Amino acid sequence: MDLVLFGIQGSGKGTQAKRLAAEFQYDIFEAGGELRKIAASASAKATADKSGSELGKTVSSYIDKGHLVPHEIIMQVVKEAILARPKDQKILFDGIPRDENQMKDFDRVMKETGRDFRCIHILLTPDEGMQRILGRAKAEGRADDADTAIVARRMKTFTEKTMPVIEKYKNEGKMIEIDGMKSVDEVYGEMKRAVV
Ligand code: AMP
Repeated sequence: MDLVLFGIQGSGKGTQAKRLAAEFQYDIFEAGGELRKIAASASAKATADKSGSELGKTVSSYIDKGHLVPHEIIMQVVKEAILARPKDQKILFDGIPRDENQMKDFDRVMKETGRDFRCIHILLTPDEGMQRILGRAKAEGRADDADTAIVARRMKTFTEKTMPVIEKYKNEGKMIEIDGMKSVDEVYGEMKRAVV
């Protein structure tokens, strides 16, 4: 069974994903990370062909502003990632689907490829998420984490576009909710209970 992880920026979702993947042999598909790799290809002039570099520029123009990258781009990336893996390789999806349009396509691809999944939402208030993300920005050096206005925009997108997705999965009985204010170990303990 695959997992789809939800949590506002700063909820600790990435950290928990890594731990869970290591203990339970999931492959992580981190949407933001995959897109940042594509964005980085814009500056890798030596190796990138022209189209790759154009795509990279497009992707980074959205990431830099804290907007969702266009639907077709992210859906193509996730589709390829799913198809590239053997059926029996469990996947942990982090950062997708982020709006109802992506949800519709994601559900369809998962169905077509015969993959079942459940969802986990690490709950945290935007205020707490903001405090945490600004605290870690310097250490990790991500430009879109260092700018308060961009973090706020990403959080607004989460509240306005991703929360309706979470509600829908909740209504489908697919969602497990975890209190993100607890310690990293406590949150992990609850996540572990959810997957076994
Ligand atoms: P994150 O690291 O998850 O906060 O994502 C960083 C940035 O990557 C976001 O602000 C978006 O620009 C982009 N991104 C990540 N996931 C998606 C997605 N599912 N759809 C569109 N854009 C995304």
